[in-house]
Amino acid sequence: MKRLPKRGAYDRETVFRVLDEAFVCHVGFVVDGQPYVIPTNYGRVGEILYLHGSAASRMLRTLSEGIPVCVTATLIDGLVLARSAFHHSVNYRSVVVLGTARLVEDPAEKMEALRLFTEHIMKGRWDEIRQPTEQELKATTVLAVPLQEVSAKVRTGGPVDDDEDYELPIWAGVLPLPVLPGAPIADSRLKAGIPAPENVTKYSRREGS
Ligand SMILES: Cc1cc2nc3c(=O)[nH]c(=O)nc-3n(C[C@H](O)[C@H](O)[C@H](O)COP(=O)(O)OP(=O)(O)OC[C@H]3O[C@@H](n4cnc5c(N)ncnc54)[C@H](O)[C@@H]3O)c2cc1C
Repeated sequence: MKRLPKRGAYDRETVFRVLDEAFVCHVGFVVDGQPYVIPTNYGRVGEILYLHGSAASRMLRTLSEGIPVCVTATLIDGLVLARSAFHHSVNYRSVVVLGTARLVEDPAEKMEALRLFTEHIMKGRWDEIRQPTEQELKATTVLAVPLQEVSAKVRTGGPVDDDEDYELPIWAGVLPLPVLPGAPIADSRLKAGIPAPENVTKYSRREGS
């Protein structure tokens, strides 16, 4: 495992790019010898990943006790279809984070984490919506996971077959699998005359789009 602070800018940027494009991570931890891997959303600022959820959540309660955690995020870019079963693969970008989560208690940091969290799922959304009340803040646990021990792994490109297999009459190549939003579905209780904002109608997970 490589440590982020010792790595070059390219690697740091790769890790951040993956974490910023993905929005679901899997959080692994052990309770009484039983490993759990729980899917959840997250936000990031600098070298901190924020997790949030109900104050009653066992995952968040357990992690706030300061036990070791492993967080992974994965982006699937395409299916790599080779001529042989052996060389089939997936184009992906993934990140693994090892560390210990910290309970966020400072109300200002907690609020900022929730803003980042919301913005991570949809840019511009925080300023369009009602902000959390004090009661809602209390009912929400926020954890910070430092991005110190991290690694990124990326696979790109087409299949790499054995030389003799290139002669086989078998289609080979890549089937891209981008995340593409469908048409927005307005809530049945939406007040008349409220159009979907551009961040909804032009939603994209890709950086800069
Ligand atoms: C895409 C996605 C995003 C999510 N985002 C968040 C988030 O931001 N914050 C948040 O708090 N929760 C989120 N969840 C829900 C999260 O996965 C947990 O279910 C929730 O946090 C409760 O966790 P817990 O440890 O308290 O579970 P408990 O209520 O203690 O769960 C008991 C048992 O139920 C099973 N279980 C728990 N969660 C799941 C699950 N998701 N799927 C199948 N079995 C399960 C496990 O065996 C677990 O041990 C998300 C889920 C998905 C799929």
